[in-house]
Amino acid sequence: MNPIPEQKINKALNDQRLQLAIYDATGRLMQKRKDSVLDPIAENFEAWRDQANAIKRHTIENLDHYLEQLERNVIKRGGKVIWAKDAEEAVSFVRALCKQKGVKRIVKSKSMTTEEVELNHALEHDEIDVVETDLGEYILQLARETPYHIVAPALHKTRYDVADIFTEKLGVEREEVIEKQTMIARRVLREKFLTAELGITGANFLVADSGAVVIVENEGNARLSSSAPRIQIAFAGFEKVIPRAQDLATFLKVLGRSATGQPLTVYTSFLNGPRRQGEIDGPEEFYLVLLDNGRTKVLENPSKRQALYCIRCGACLNHCPVYRKIGGHSYPWVYSGPIGAILSPQFHGVTRDPWLPHASSLCGACGEVCPVKIEIPKILLELRHDIAEEKERQGEGRIEHLGFKAWALVMSNPGLWKLALSGAPLTMPATQNGWLRSVPGFMKLGPIAAWLSQRDLPAPAPKSFRKLWKERQEAKAAEGKTH
Ligand code: SF4
Repeated sequence: MNPIPEQKINKALNDQRLQLAIYDATGRLMQKRKDSVLDPIAENFEAWRDQANAIKRHTIENLDHYLEQLERNVIKRGGKVIWAKDAEEAVSFVRALCKQKGVKRIVKSKSMTTEEVELNHALEHDEIDVVETDLGEYILQLARETPYHIVAPALHKTRYDVADIFTEKLGVEREEVIEKQTMIARRVLREKFLTAELGITGANFLVADSGAVVIVENEGNARLSSSAPRIQIAFAGFEKVIPRAQDLATFLKVLGRSATGQPLTVYTSFLNGPRRQGEIDGPEEFYLVLLDNGRTKVLENPSKRQALYCIRCGACLNHCPVYRKIGGHSYPWVYSGPIGAILSPQFHGVTRDPWLPHASSLCGACGEVCPVKIEIPKILLELRHDIAEEKERQGEGRIEHLGFKAWALVMSNPGLWKLALSGAPLTMPATQNGWLRSVPGFMKLGPIAAWLSQRDLPAPAPKSFRKLWKERQEAKAAEGKTH
């Protein structure tokens, strides 16, 4: 069981520059989403969300059928499908292929799935030059950091940070103008694209009825990574499959708007296997790696498996008050924010990071904005329930359990509630300016003190409502008698 990463969280909370960077970037993304959703052209946005949810539900319930169809169509177009049970199988396949084909350089476009299996790390160990070509990912690769956000990986970096990184790692003159920084990266990456033997991309959607891998992006680097090198690998979790190309009409409309507030991203690429006779570009070899890595386990639960509907738009992160404070690196896995809080425990078991489903105020914003209508708050509650059950099974959390039982008893019994309220004045010595700032010594149980150290709680009123009401009634009655 991993403890709460308090150090990381406190570091993020106390870094004013970082707080401003996260707040600013997520705030802009929220505003862009809002504007694009309120645009009259998107008046059917709610209906699109319903459609997206229905398609995902249908696909996940018939996953075997669509995955087999996808495989047949990829093979028909000359590609190969690799079923990877876990990270080790996926990584071993890529390493073996690189060895067999004499690959020395790889260009990669953004892929959370390859982050999930830590592919770069293994390939660098084999002394292969692996180059991230998405600008944000490239900045992070130079800084030796992991993505901070599933859509905007370098969301926490300011242009001044990027200037420092480029000067230190690329040996260029310090440049703080974003457009000029982009030109620096473009110059370096162009040469990498032209000399790489292998391109690795992720996949936003896998279309079963055609075998196409669909990638949406704004920089054109995924298109270059998939067309310039002679070998191409697309990496995807198997839940990315959708039944038909026409379903994209729904998904593309909700994805761009939810992620970056765009009606459509700048590039939408359809990768259809290796280059065919007469075609002038495209790879000579095409591989699709379909990753399980715990997804089958998630499928087992009919309620919680909706977490696999996720199309990685990042909207739930941008709208989450917890993510916006603690930032992406406080989460234990590559998937951060609300989607990370419901995916990680299902992939790794609820006992590994039991604090994670509790890292939510349950405000419901994540569920409100999710373009595929995943009921994130409901899953968080179900996971909390699973954690409590697991603790009970292991004989832990008895005091907590007893505490809640006592609380339920008091709350459901007016007499006991009245008695409990009569103890409220005892907390008065700990109040300051109408707020409870600490608790009297006898109540200093760890959780209560910790709770109060982070939150404001109004001090109990000197007289309870019941008492005031009683006094008022008595006063009225006395007044009636005197008249
Ligand atoms: S859970 Fe929904 S809102 Fe969050 S990243 Fe996935 S699709 Fe987007």
